Amino acid sequence: PAAIEAEQLTKIYGSGNTEVVAMKDASMRVEKGEVVALLGPSGSGKSTFLTAVGLINSPTRGRISIGGQLVHDGDVAYTNLRSFRRRHLGFIFQKSNLIPFLSAIENVQIAMQLSGESARASRRRSMELLEYLGVADRASNFPSMLSGGQQQRIAVARALANRPSVILADEPTAALDGHRGRQVMELFAKVAHEQGAGVIVVTHDHRALDVFDTIYEMEDGLLSRSAPSESAHASV
Ligand code: ADP
Ligand code: ADP
Repeated sequence: PAAIEAEQLTKIYGSGNTEVVAMKDASMRVEKGEVVALLGPSGSGKSTFLTAVGLINSPTRGRISIGGQLVHDGDVAYTNLRSFRRRHLGFIFQKSNLIPFLSAIENVQIAMQLSGESARASRRRSMELLEYLGVADRASNFPSMLSGGQQQRIAVARALANRPSVILADEPTAALDGHRGRQVMELFAKVAHEQGAGVIVVTHDHRALDVFDTIYEMEDGLLSRSAPSESAHASV
């Protein structure tokens, strides 16, 4: 089965005069090991799509399957979304949303410990991720002592800690410089290829598009697949 199968997702916000069709019949299939970039102007429906697939914001119509399991049909959920999210999904937001009273490494470890991992194993894996991301020296710092880019890298480590089968990121590199941003995108690709995860990244950063297997574009709520060569040359 595909890592992610989104079929004809439609989202309507509001009703009557204030109705907004934020997404219309959006379909995407992401295979295990596939890394997808989602481009499109502000307000085109990217976050609506990503949060629907991330089981955070239910679609008005359409079906979502994760790893072959039907999770959503219209606004009906077929599983406990909260526990499903914790077990299968890693979400990275534009803002890092770290827990302010936990240190950097504790922020990463807590996800694993909630899923029953031992303190020792979770600490080792957290350090490995922080090292790869170049923030190991910040492990014992609280988030308020870290730069935006460092906080974002901690958030990436936290999202990957449980080896999720689906990784969803909403402009994860907006706070990072070009080199660090690329490194984060490359880490997503590595995780996808090595662990068979399906990855969708909403991004405005055209410099790292070569890392992706597939590129989609959202325009006025309509989702389409685009030829990589075209997108690589599009201007920001
Ligand atoms: P939204 O979440 O509604 O898309 P943002 O605050 O992310 O809005 O973006 C505001 C504007 O800044 C957008 O027009 C977007 O194209 C641009 N932008 C955001 N991130 C980047 C980036 N990393 N590189 C270039 N432009 C960006
Ligand atoms: P993007 O992520 O591409 O910037 P969004 O998915 O955030 O786009 O927004 C798509 C459209 O839906 C926009 O017109 C936006 O104003 C509208 N929208 C998003 N969230 C809400 C909401 N909670 N209530 C009403 N309209 C919304």
